[in-house]
Amino acid sequence: AAWEKQVRHSSTPRRPNGFSILVTGAAGFVGAHCSLALKKRGDGVLGLDNFNNYYDPSLKRSRQALLAKHQIFIIEGDLNDGLLLTKLLDVVPFTHVLHLAAQAGVRYAMQNPQSYVSSNIAGFVNLLEVAKKANPQPSIVWASSSSVYGLNTENPFSESHCTDQPASLYAATKKAGEEIAHTYNHIYGLSLTGLRFFTVYGPWGRPDMAYFFFTKDILQGKQIDVYQTQDEKEVARDFTYIDDVVKGCLGALDTAEKSTGSGGKKRGQAQLRVYNLGNTSPVPVGRLVSILEGLLNTKAKKHVIKMPRNGDVPFTHANVSLAYRDFGYKPTTDLATGLRKFVKWYVNYYGIQSKVKKDIDSTTSNNESN
Ligand code: NAD
Repeated sequence: AAWEKQVRHSSTPRRPNGFSILVTGAAGFVGAHCSLALKKRGDGVLGLDNFNNYYDPSLKRSRQALLAKHQIFIIEGDLNDGLLLTKLLDVVPFTHVLHLAAQAGVRYAMQNPQSYVSSNIAGFVNLLEVAKKANPQPSIVWASSSSVYGLNTENPFSESHCTDQPASLYAATKKAGEEIAHTYNHIYGLSLTGLRFFTVYGPWGRPDMAYFFFTKDILQGKQIDVYQTQDEKEVARDFTYIDDVVKGCLGALDTAEKSTGSGGKKRGQAQLRVYNLGNTSPVPVGRLVSILEGLLNTKAKKHVIKMPRNGDVPFTHANVSLAYRDFGYKPTTDLATGLRKFVKWYVNYYGIQSKVKKDIDSTTSNNESN
């Protein structure tokens, strides 16, 4: 009963007509930021996360502590726990689910293929099964990925481009998620909006991502591997700052239609939409390194290697005109500005006392959630 009380309290909106939102993966990077932003504007937010150890679980616990300071509660549980999800959606009439929990990362799939199938396919289906039976049926906004474009070479990537050539198991499971969403929309009238994120970075970010471990390794004087394609072109990514992605997620939630349900009503009437959320300006990884060198005041020991077939794609580049048309999505943070905020967070979080910290502190403003 204490559990139910806390759940009800967390998920009760404070603004009139505010949403009541279940955020899966709330202890994750994007989930924590979105939860804070939603709570800040007065929506009711309840988190769910299994706190797995894909990367440093203490970072997830720190995000949880930050959310707790803002009265956001995270239930510790797995997407595949149908009883737990059913009970949650029974107790709270969620208007929306922001589904961000997933097994992320491209290379980890080579050693741990099953965790991708379990979280990104089985877990997603389980969530949709519970959502379809809930009353009311929540609208669902979920994280897909730019990786679905795979070996597509049309540049920039638009939502209508071919996604039939995933380059990694991660990408294949994200693509499968889009197909699965289609069926639940078609048969059960669930409103589903997929967001293809492009390399999201920023404070409280993921230690398995290049900008994060480059920062760590450069500060520790360790060599970093910088990949080149087989034809010696630099690998480039459409790095997207977390605050821009958060705005996109909120925009998608705000414009998501209601689920129409299947019980005796017309089927297939709810919306199924998919949007790119990127920055629209790809940056070569070499440039990422030189920005970091400047911010960290330290020369990187670069080791350039030709890209093996490890699931990475040579470049990503988003066309975001659909998201702009439908909810005004417009990325505003360039890589140098965003990395400065990341580095400031990084040195504070890890308590690094150095020239870096002094320089960064004197040039950026303080922002707790950033
Ligand atoms: P993250 O790993 O920081 O967050 C995911 C969270 O989900 C983690 O806290 C993890 O513990 C939790 N989780 C994983 N499997 C779960 C399960 N079965 N049950 C309950 N919780 C589970 O990743 P992120 O960067 O915040 O990514 C959020 C979403 O965006 C993911 O779906 C990811 O695939 C997608 N995405 C991220 C990026 C990016 O650059 N960060 C790019 C494209 C897509």
